[in-house]
Amino acid sequence: MAIKKVWIEDGCTSCGLCEGICPDVFVVEDIAIVKEGVNFQDFEDEIKDAADSCPVEVIKYSE
Ligand code: SF4
Repeated sequence: MAIKKVWIEDGCTSCGLCEGICPDVFVVEDIAIVKEGVNFQDFEDEIKDAADSCPVEVIKYSE
């Protein structure tokens, strides 16, 4: 299975954790955003780690 889509639901607290774990995919400005043009399959472990680590569980992905 390969990650094809990554998004962030409402409720991000801008803690910065996801960017710390996977700066190639996540950028935290006012809130976290997913970078455009990223091949998510290159960062699957990091995306899953960020989603598991997000304190408010708003990072979602679909395979
Ligand atoms: S880890 Fe979660 S709460 Fe923290 S900046 Fe990323 S999306 Fe927002």
